[in-house]
Amino acid sequence: MFREKMDIRLPGPTPVPPQVTRAILETMNAPYMDYRNEEFRRVVSDTVKRLKSVFRTEGDILLLAGSGTSALQTAMVNVIGPGDTVIVAVMGFFGEYLADIAKQAGANLVRIDSEWGQPTDPEAIRDALRQHPDAKAVFVTHCETSTSVVNDLKAIGDVVKGSGALLLVDAVSSVGAIELNMDEWGIDIVAAGCQKGLMTPPGLGVVAVNERAWDVIEKSPRPSFYFDLMRYKEFIQTGQTPYTPNVAMVKGLAAAIDLLEEEGLDNTFRRHVVLRDMTRAAMKALGVPCLVEDDAHASPVVTTVIIDQADPHVFRNHVRSELRVALAAGLGKLKDKTVRIAHMGYTDAGDVLKTIAAVEVGLRRVGYAVELGAGVAAAQRVWLERQAVAHV
Ligand SMILES: *Cc1c(COP(=O)(O)O)cnc(C)c1O
Repeated sequence: MFREKMDIRLPGPTPVPPQVTRAILETMNAPYMDYRNEEFRRVVSDTVKRLKSVFRTEGDILLLAGSGTSALQTAMVNVIGPGDTVIVAVMGFFGEYLADIAKQAGANLVRIDSEWGQPTDPEAIRDALRQHPDAKAVFVTHCETSTSVVNDLKAIGDVVKGSGALLLVDAVSSVGAIELNMDEWGIDIVAAGCQKGLMTPPGLGVVAVNERAWDVIEKSPRPSFYFDLMRYKEFIQTGQTPYTPNVAMVKGLAAAIDLLEEEGLDNTFRRHVVLRDMTRAAMKALGVPCLVEDDAHASPVVTTVIIDQADPHVFRNHVRSELRVALAAGLGKLKDKTVRIAHMGYTDAGDVLKTIAAVEVGLRRVGYAVELGAGVAAAQRVWLERQAVAHV
């Protein structure tokens, strides 16, 4: 009977609100539109305009038909060419993506490695910029979804501002869920996807670009035809994309932005922080360590927990098959040591309480002597104290 039932507690893709699914299905059920018509152009223009408030930028927003990685690559290859120096901050699995993209683009890669579970030290970026004054860009991850660490982008922005380099940010797992002030923090390009904080099924890459970045992009060789941002810039003026857009997902994204506006973005950010605090309090009560010890760097959207007294894959399978809650496996070198519990996007306190109850059962199944209900109670206490803040 429950074959198709599953609570998605993955840090992407995230649960899709019914309003978003409906908007997508309505689009797919109707005769497929010519996407250069007046009506769809208005949808694109309106969506892009409202996304500027989500990214908190006066810059341009460009939509790609692709996943989050298409946006990351676009950010990189429009600025960096063979022989150019780029500073990449790596603090986990997704930071390695940025390093790989830079390498493949033929860049002179300068890595700043942080221990997995720690954020990037802004002073390390300052040093790298001093040693490599020719660096064209600094690329950092906002929320490192493998370790559940959030970088202090405001502090990093302050460091990069005075240099000649652009600041590029991977915000695939943070946009729409974790505070991100693109203009105020001096971020020149933000790359994101739609299937995480933006609550839409996969299929859209989103790139935000400011004037400072356009000046560099214009003069860059831009070897990629499909990802050439100048083409996207030209077409977006009239609500179009240069190539066929992902029409249904654009409509879904528009419906998701309705929901973010309805909740109020600051309330959305606060809700995620409360859900994180519930999850972390529960793990503490259960004696299951979180990879990130310091609350100040702990991600509001995902919590990486260390499962070292049993096989984390067996644990995850129990939670999934018995209680139908999907948790994410660890990534990279954390693959066989951690499990990731997402509280990202269309997720509320009830979802978190059920997840923790399921985690307790799973832990008992693999031999942990946890006290049943201890995690749930700790999370409930956080909720009772903080509900007024969460506005849910
Ligand atoms: C999910 C994720 C990506 C990759 O996005 P895709 O949509 O799978 O291409 C990149 N960076 C971060 C931080 C992510 O969380």
